[in-house]
Amino acid sequence: MKQVSVIGAGTMGNGIAHVFAQCGFKVNLIDISETALQNAIRTISKNLDRMIEKGRISEEDKKSALANINPVSNLKSGLSGSGLVVEAATENVELKCKIFRDISEFSDEGAILATNTSSISITKIASHTKQPSRVIGMHFMNPVPVMKLVEVIRGYDTSDEVTAEVFELSEKLGKIPVEVNDYPGFIANRILMPMINEAIYSLYENVAGVEEIDTVMKLGMAHPMGPLQLADFIGLDVCLSILKVLHEGFGNPKYAPCPLLVNMVTAGHLGIKSREGFYDYSGGTKELIPAGRFQKTHSRSK
Ligand code: NAD
Repeated sequence: MKQVSVIGAGTMGNGIAHVFAQCGFKVNLIDISETALQNAIRTISKNLDRMIEKGRISEEDKKSALANINPVSNLKSGLSGSGLVVEAATENVELKCKIFRDISEFSDEGAILATNTSSISITKIASHTKQPSRVIGMHFMNPVPVMKLVEVIRGYDTSDEVTAEVFELSEKLGKIPVEVNDYPGFIANRILMPMINEAIYSLYENVAGVEEIDTVMKLGMAHPMGPLQLADFIGLDVCLSILKVLHEGFGNPKYAPCPLLVNMVTAGHLGIKSREGFYDYSGGTKELIPAGRFQKTHSRSK
């Protein structure tokens, strides 16, 4: 396999394109937004510069990685010639099913159809295609060039052959694949999201402030980042979508998203990408937001 297509050029799509391109694959990076494509190329270039500074790659490596990436805004032409398609578009079930109906129609025969979804059922996505045995979850972690794990999720009909090929490809990228079955949240988010939700509830109920909650988990549990900072990093909209999938999928109230998370997403405070979440990033650094803002009983005067 020499060419892959990545659909969605946002946070994850640009990271996935980066690692494939750095590994010598030709990459068609597809997005409906020209701005997203331009931003993605800028981000990849900046991240490659950081790797040069650390002495991990050369200027030449950067040039060839960037030359391997072809930004495309037309899905049909972007799929032609690719043995693997990795979909990393917005976490929305209707959107993903529609994209997979199109991929199923326009991709090359025999191509592997992978999704980077954080939580949506692979089996459901596969049911919208003509080749469900070739549909699989290839769940990269953020930031993709740094994180080693690829959670490989087998849908109900995913074939052994496709699973083995995705394992081999992930290893070629220098990643460590782990096989899991297709149940809500898979493994990573089934465990991570309830923890983040509980951190948000602790803040909402005024058990402690943002800094205190993050410090407890960093120093007490040796987490590299506190759960509230991590939620800002992932995107609060993404966290909310995953919790909704867990809540609906298991029918268990313990997964109900905290009302504070729902309010923040509704108000457009999505974390780093909107420059404000549990922290304020508007000045280019991570700053605390005055206490009181997040609590259930907050008042304007606080
Ligand atoms: P994002 O919002 O940063 O980017 C999504 C991109 O998809 C946008 O550029 C948007 O223009 C594009 N898009 C929307 N509709 C499209 C279409 N029809 N065709 C092509 N492009 C389209 O989102 P993200 O954080 O990169 O998440 C992408 C996927 O990766 C989601 O499924 C998410 O659950 C998953 N994921 C996210 C993280 C994370 O930490 N953010 C981690 C692992 C997996």
